[in-house]
Amino acid sequence: MMRGAFDDVPLAVIFPLLEPADVDSMNQAAGTVDAARTGGDRADWEWALEHAAFPGTQSGTPTILGLDVIEHAEGGDQLEFQLQVVWTALGRLAVETAVNVACWCGTDHATHDIDALRLVVGEETSLPAAFRVGAERLTGWLAEPHDADHWRATAGLPPRWAH
Ligand SMILES: [Zn+2]
Repeated sequence: MMRGAFDDVPLAVIFPLLEPADVDSMNQAAGTVDAARTGGDRADWEWALEHAAFPGTQSGTPTILGLDVIEHAEGGDQLEFQLQVVWTALGRLAVETAVNVACWCGTDHATHDIDALRLVVGEETSLPAAFRVGAERLTGWLAEPHDADHWRATAGLPPRWAH
């Protein structure tokens, strides 16, 4: 994976079907996400040129472009906000976004996606449209408390010190 600011992402290379207006739209959507990140590093976007063409799904859903806002990941706890463009098993593009927290259940599930959205790109939904919806969802989440227990509570999961 390459890493940098969204301006560094070679959108026309990794998504060769994008029109210039589409690139503008995605830049704008990414800008709203960057603006919503408090004190975050703008150079956290990651992309994989080797996944620009569908590589198959031998190892899951290949990520082409993504942002992982890791709020904290110490002491065994974890809170992450994710926005990714991936390939589906059928070789279609999809935009996925999720809030992910560490699990403190009696049974260890490792992590939980508290809230997640997946938009498959197709005739009805363009990549820039899906990316915009994903970016809006992520921006909304980033306005809420950056506290893993807050997110666990919204999902009815036990807090960190429950046991
Ligand atoms: Zn759990």
